[in-house]
Amino acid sequence: MQPPTAIKRRLNELGLRSRLRARPRLQGRILAPAGLRRRLPRAPGLYFPFYHDVPPEYGNDLRRHLRTLQQLGPMVSWDEALRILAGDRPLTGPVFCLSFDDAHLTWRDVAAPVLLEMRVPAMFFLTSGLVGQPGNLTWQDCRDLLAAGFDFGSHTVTHHRLADQDDATAAAEIAGSKREIEAELGVEIRDFAAPYGHPTVDFGERDVRAAREAGYRSFATTLRPAMHPGDSPMFIHRQGLHPAWPILALRTRVHD
Ligand SMILES: [Zn+2]
Repeated sequence: MQPPTAIKRRLNELGLRSRLRARPRLQGRILAPAGLRRRLPRAPGLYFPFYHDVPPEYGNDLRRHLRTLQQLGPMVSWDEALRILAGDRPLTGPVFCLSFDDAHLTWRDVAAPVLLEMRVPAMFFLTSGLVGQPGNLTWQDCRDLLAAGFDFGSHTVTHHRLADQDDATAAAEIAGSKREIEAELGVEIRDFAAPYGHPTVDFGERDVRAAREAGYRSFATTLRPAMHPGDSPMFIHRQGLHPAWPILALRTRVHD
């Protein structure tokens, strides 16, 4: 049993963190000094930066992030990234593979136009139960993004933390979202991203196994280190970013 002060401190931390998430520019300024001790990648390594919502006021910031990454190395599709992990493509410098999580309407209105203009491929990990809800994409929006050349993966049905679910519920979240997205989009969904994404805390070996059994070929987490040929596609490392962050803050997540 934790003493009340420790509980209180933890609650304060949680409150601070959620307040900072709601103020991403401030969060970026707080993170930035730690970026001085890191450098953007120059050595061979595969990075999977990802974003969530991209509100219109951050469209240019997303452009700035992507330009910075593009100067370091190519931006590749999820398929191409898996080929690199499998050793079918050489990795001679930094390579980046972009993804977006949940089902934000701003993917259609802000992110996709920037990505198309900059010719950056991207994977959208869809929380299928959010589709059609206020502030989120419709299935038609998803079909339009697919037709524009973007990839789709699954990010469960309800976005609940898998580690908190019993076996049957977790398996239904993992397999059910795959079936639903496939039925709506008419393509096979082979890639999965775990909500929150931290091993043990947010998902376990059981969930990776369930994903494999459901027919997924890759499983994305939010562990951050660079990946290399030979690493498992069933444990992809991704680096969570917000477009509002300055490049120094990006360096705390994407570095070698
Ligand atoms: Zn998510």
